[in-house]
Amino acid sequence: MFLTRRALGVAFSAGFSIVLAGPVAAQGQLTVYCSVQEEWCRPMMAAFEKETGIKVSMTRKSSGETYAQVKAESANPRGDVWWGGTGDPHMQAAEEGLTEEYKSPKLTELNDWAVRQWEGSKGRTVGIYSGALGFAYNTKLIAEKKLPEPKCWADLLDPKLKDEVQVADPNSSGTSYTMLATMVQIMGEQKAFEYLKALHKNINQYTKSGAAPAKATSLGETTVGIAFLHDHVMMIVDGAPMKAVAPCEGTGYEIGSMSIIKGAKNMDNAKKFYDWALTPAAQALAAPAKSFQVPSNKATPIPPQAPKLADIKLINFDFAKYGSSDERKRLLAKWDAEVKNLP
Ligand code: PLP
Repeated sequence: MFLTRRALGVAFSAGFSIVLAGPVAAQGQLTVYCSVQEEWCRPMMAAFEKETGIKVSMTRKSSGETYAQVKAESANPRGDVWWGGTGDPHMQAAEEGLTEEYKSPKLTELNDWAVRQWEGSKGRTVGIYSGALGFAYNTKLIAEKKLPEPKCWADLLDPKLKDEVQVADPNSSGTSYTMLATMVQIMGEQKAFEYLKALHKNINQYTKSGAAPAKATSLGETTVGIAFLHDHVMMIVDGAPMKAVAPCEGTGYEIGSMSIIKGAKNMDNAKKFYDWALTPAAQALAAPAKSFQVPSNKATPIPPQAPKLADIKLINFDFAKYGSSDERKRLLAKWDAEVKNLP
């Protein structure tokens, strides 16, 4: 069963109360900043509204963009919960005191990697899903253009792939920042920036959203797209002519996270959402929305389509270091200065 039994709503009118056993009565508001894909944001908010009667106002923005919004609004917060998106800007927000400490009773039900995110942020963010980074190529375009099938990060530097590769801008996108931090951890910082500068020659567009290159690959607008493997799988299950690749050198991964915004106007409802979002019933809403991450609650079934993390050569990603405010700001500034504006 997806949803637990609805609570009975109580309406007050002219000095007497009426118990409603039908749709739950209005229970106030909640503003959620959603950083997963729109296709998953919408059913998640609708299910929470239906279950609780709390009216949700939702905005979808990429991870880095949402972090910037939360920071810009910190003097007068307008959002209550930030749900989804890569963990690094959630960690940065935690360190900068932009988010609230909260210990959910559901914490004991989560995988260690999700709890570590909570511990590392001193209780200000928690893991809700995980997924590995990779790339995909459009099999029709690769064959038509007689291009070699890329298997490794190094293969994406092939001059034959000039203008054939798409990835997001790491300032707006947590996916792309995960790639930047992954390269630094695999190659060391100097070689990683040499790699990213060389890759720039093959990039046709830096998109705002991290999943956009997966969609563009499915539509044949780019031959290769770099994104989370589950974003590629989302296209493949719909029949896109695509092959997803876990790069041979190894790859990084994300711990998608959730935080309560400091000074949230609807704090009680924010905590209700937070607890609910960690339940197996809520996390099971991902798969029907074709979001195939690995969920954080141990009792949530892992969708069979989810890329199997155990089969992928994952690096030992240092979430504390690459989610720290100083390191994230420094790497993004360096990417802007040395990569973004190259001809
Ligand atoms: N959508 C999905 C399915 C994700 O797993 C993630 C990462 O957490 C995002 C979106 C975040 O996207 P962006 O790279 O645009 O911040």
